[in-house]
Amino acid sequence: MSFKDILGHQRPIILLQRAIKNEKVVNSYLFLGNEGIGKKYVALQFAKALNCLGKESEGGDACDHCSSCKKIDHALHPDVLVIEPEGQYIKVDQVRQMQRQLAYKPYEGRHRVCILTAADRMAPYIPNTLLKTLEEPPLHTVIVLLANSSRFILPTILSRCQTIRFNPLPIPLLSKWLMEGKGFNEAEAHLLASLSEGSPGKALEIQEEIHQIPREELLIDWIGLKSLPIERMWNWVESLPSQRENLLLMLEVAKTLLRDLVVVKTLRKEPNLIHSDLLPVMEPMAAKWSLSSLLKRMEILHQTTLAIRSNANTNLALEAMMLSWAEG
Ligand SMILES: [Zn+2]
Repeated sequence: MSFKDILGHQRPIILLQRAIKNEKVVNSYLFLGNEGIGKKYVALQFAKALNCLGKESEGGDACDHCSSCKKIDHALHPDVLVIEPEGQYIKVDQVRQMQRQLAYKPYEGRHRVCILTAADRMAPYIPNTLLKTLEEPPLHTVIVLLANSSRFILPTILSRCQTIRFNPLPIPLLSKWLMEGKGFNEAEAHLLASLSEGSPGKALEIQEEIHQIPREELLIDWIGLKSLPIERMWNWVESLPSQRENLLLMLEVAKTLLRDLVVVKTLRKEPNLIHSDLLPVMEPMAAKWSLSSLLKRMEILHQTTLAIRSNANTNLALEAMMLSWAEG
């Protein structure tokens, strides 16, 4: 694989290739973007392009078959270090060991490249240890920090790095990749792409869970009911997944079901649905519901998801949601 084989992310790739061609590569980069979006792939192709022995390196890409490219692909290149968190966090020892390695010149590459994959999940004190390296970078060294957001990164570190943002991939592009590259059918690919927030890694990660979500029941028994007796409401809350991540995924699925109902309601001819297999169930529902009720439910779901994401008590948030649901 090289830059030209990467799915999407054209802007970051153009920036990095231009830096290589113009010999303007800086010492520290921060790649920011959602989990699983492809930051690490791009960082590895960058390391390959920086050290490639083939002609392609003149154009800022990797040849993908010289000894340097192959070693990086197999994680055997002595000058390319990838630091992953051990457990939840990157630990002090890992960063100190990296710093010891940086004290020597590159063994065989033109550039030594250190990729820290979870720069927003570093144990306390590490940022200060790392800052010294970023302030006085060893020669021929490029440090690439990867993070989902800049929220947990110290401003002193941010100011030392050139930030490159990775946007979510467009749904059609991700769907196509899931169909052509991973063998999903069109409906599955569209559903996964829509729920993955533009992240190929997340799309593959949630495929198992998605299969276990009873979409039709969710649509008929939950979204479709105007009001529920209070005991049934609490039964519903209790039947929802207790793990926060699974619950959030289910709420996201519920959002896409509601979104489809709105589409069926407003665009009658051949609507482009995420859950196209459920169209026969949706049509009578869409006819029965007013647009404002559907939009109100979408808003309630959205607010509930936000509350749960920011660590609100899950049961309370769901009960509040069900009460607002019953009113609408
Ligand atoms: Zn090469």
